[in-house]
Amino acid sequence: MRVLVVEDEPGVAQFVEQGLKEAGYAVDVATDGLEGLSYARAADYDAIVLDIMLPKMNGLEVLREIREYRIKTPVLLLTARDGVDDRVRGLDTGADDYLVKPFAFPELLARVRALLRRPPLQTDAILKAGDLEMDVARREVSRGGNPIDLSPREFSLLELLLRHPGQVLTRTQIIEHVWNFNFYSETKVVDVYIGYLRRKIDAGYDGSIIETIRGVGYRLQAKRS
Ligand code: CA
Repeated sequence: MRVLVVEDEPGVAQFVEQGLKEAGYAVDVATDGLEGLSYARAADYDAIVLDIMLPKMNGLEVLREIREYRIKTPVLLLTARDGVDDRVRGLDTGADDYLVKPFAFPELLARVRALLRRPPLQTDAILKAGDLEMDVARREVSRGGNPIDLSPREFSLLELLLRHPGQVLTRTQIIEHVWNFNFYSETKVVDVYIGYLRRKIDAGYDGSIIETIRGVGYRLQAKRS
């Protein structure tokens, strides 16, 4: 397994490189954002550890470029303790996970291992099913090119379905991802919101892109257009 580490602080870069090598990974280190981007484009890495605060091009810009080049390699962001906004933006831009500095090496290793185990996800910032499209970072949804206005909750629900195309999600799974603990026993709220969502995204279409699986939950049709 080959890992790219993009980190400008020599101490951190060296410690991460050394640790990953001892754990059996092939490691390349880039010390600024531009170099990181060119490495990521030149070689096929299994995972990328990407610092956010980098010279020449910051980690979020590198991440955006990587995803624009359709490179789906899992990315672990390294962020500052107070970098909540960066973490949110990073995850919206297509990062798979993040780690707050300073961190203990075993934790970094565990997270890299978890990324490598993960099946390739729809990590693009644009999620699609047929002619239905969601730009996660811009919070925009359209179907057949027509913009659709969703409430934040409807958006989260549709995002969850789009991240699991063709897969049946139970009401409980949906509740766990889209609502908080107060709603755990209220699975009916899922049916209500699926209703709201269908009214908006299926307007003008025959049938619904969201199938009801009786007694189980819901499934977004992956190939329908
Ligand atoms: Ca840095």
